[in-house]
Parts: sequence; structure tokens; C-alpha cells
Amino acid sequence: MVIVIKPGTTDEAILKVKKEMEAQGFTIHESRGANFCVLGVVGDTAAFDVRNLMVKDCVEKVLRVQEPYKRANRLFHPADSVIDVSGVKIGGNKVQVIAGPCSVESEAQITAVAEAVKKSGATLMRGGAFKPRTSPYSFQGLREEGLDLLQIAKKKTGLPIVTEIMSARMIERYVEDVDLIQVGARNMQNFELLKELGRTRKPILLKRGLSATIEEWLMSAEYIMSEGNENVILCERGIRTFEQYTRNTLDLSAIPVVKKLSHLPVIVDPSHAGGLWWLVEPLAKAAVAAGADGLLIEVHNDPEHAKCDGAQSLKPERFDNLMNSLRIIAGAVGRTI
Ligand code: PEP
Ligand code: MN
Repeated sequence: MVIVIKPGTTDEAILKVKKEMEAQGFTIHESRGANFCVLGVVGDTAAFDVRNLMVKDCVEKVLRVQEPYKRANRLFHPADSVIDVSGVKIGGNKVQVIAGPCSVESEAQITAVAEAVKKSGATLMRGGAFKPRTSPYSFQGLREEGLDLLQIAKKKTGLPIVTEIMSARMIERYVEDVDLIQVGARNMQNFELLKELGRTRKPILLKRGLSATIEEWLMSAEYIMSEGNENVILCERGIRTFEQYTRNTLDLSAIPVVKKLSHLPVIVDPSHAGGLWWLVEPLAKAAVAAGADGLLIEVHNDPEHAKCDGAQSLKPERFDNLMNSLRIIAGAVGRTI
């Protein structure tokens, strides 16, 4: 952190700032030019509130030079993290594909889709049991029954379960029955939920908030990691922009940016980004080409009658074709799928 002192400040006032900072355990390096005095603050400033300095008359500005996240920061963990989700490794050379319906609707539906996506090469299955819908009158998911049906589909296919948690009240059940616990975009900044999940050792799929900056997203990962759970996978799912044609705008640049800033794996959800089934293929291809470690894709056996997100769901045959074309893209960037 760098403190720029206002021109004309007395030596006495500068010394006072230095002493205050040193008393808090920081080391200060002072540099003086003709008009400016700059204090370089060395030490762990992650928990330091910059506003405590800004209120001082003699302080012109304060610049942070270090990111506020530590455990998620690549600086302190140069190697890529590989997260083991019940034997499926996310963050390694293989691009892992999570596929399944937006919501679990019935035993027949979830098992049929799970069997189909497995055949096409998906290595994990998704299915929402608790759904975060914009309207309280829309289908809210089968809730606990949905979790039971996911168990049945897992027994039939062997595919690990990925499903969203909405309340800390459900953590015990999720730890028991879910392989990768999803935190949805709307709960990315539900800090109490993040902390509770941080006290488990379960892999967590942390989706980017609707309007979250990359730093805010990484700070949410930090919440989980700061409680001791390092098993975090990030998921870019499109952000709010002025564009109305697509449901969200897929921020492809977030993939290389997050990979530069953090060692955590990053996967992409082209379904919620585009919001239309025919956009899923080009967005998925682009994500793999840009370095995504995995994909989260909505697949439904009868999208026209889906209880949620039918417009963006691929039919199993289309998903199969997509997997074939993704193999070519993955190969071109030195990865398998
Ligand atoms: C979902 O994956 O079903 C979902 C609701 O996604 P998001 O939180 O990204 O909107
Ligand atoms: Mn959905």
C-alpha cells in the first residue's frame, strides 16, 4: 500500500502517520521528492481499512498495490489448483462437462437425461432441486424430493451430482448427498452461506454474481477459503450489460483474467449466459478455446415442456453433436474433453 502525503505537510504530521502505521505492525519506507512525500507500507494490509487514512488532513490518496484476496491469489499459490469432485478432477488437462436439466422434474426425466449426457461424454450431472426463480409463482423445484431423485440418477449412471444450495439450513443434507455444491449467481454475496460452506470440505461451484466484478467474485471465493475450504471452482455464467438480445453477456475475458489472478479452476455456463439453445454451441466452443476448465450445460429431453429454462436447453442429440465438435476445439488447445 502506498500513502501519498499532501504537499506542504509538516515533518511532524508525517512522522505521526508513520508512527501510527508502525504501531500496527507495518514497515514504512519513506520517499521524498521536491514537492511530494510518499510512504510505502509493507505488511499484510488485507484487513486494513483504507478509509482510516483517507480521513486524515495530510493524506492526498492511498493506493493499494496488493489484491485483497490471499488464499485465492495465484501470487501465493503459483500452480493451478485441481479440485477432486468424487474422482472427477476439475482444473487438469481434461475439460470436464457438467450436463443436465435446469430442474429435476421427475425420476424418468432426470434418469433419462443423465443416461444420455453420460453416453455423450459428460462426467458430472446437474439438476436443480431448489430453484432461485425471479417470481415466487414460478416452479420452485422439487426441493428435498429433487435431491432424492438425483440420488436415484446417480445410482443408475455413476455420475456425481451438481446442484444448487439456497440456504445454510440445508448444508448437512447437501454434504451427505451432493458431490459439488453450487452457489448460484444470486447467492454469490450471501456471505453467511459462503462462510458456512467454508466450514465444510465439500467442493463448491461458485457462480459469478449477476453484476459482480471479477474482484468481488474472487472475494466471495476468499470467504469460503478463509474458513478452510480450498475446494472452490469458479463459474462464469454471463453478466448484466445493456444488451437485451441475450439473457446475459458472456464475459469470455474473465477466463484468462481469473486464471492470471487466481489458481482456482474456472468453468463456463453458456446456457445461462446466452439464454437461447442455439447460442450454447458457439459460446461453449469459445469458452474451451479461451481456456475454460469445464462447462455447465443445460440439457432436457423435452425442452418445450420444461418447467424451467427450456429455451436454453439442448436436446440430448444436440448435446451429443456439441460434444463431438468440442473434442476438436479441445484438441486444438492441447486439452482433452
Ligand atoms: C442454474 O444454474 O440453474 C442457475 C440458476 O444459474 P445462475 O445462478 O447462474 O443464474
Ligand atoms: Mn437454469
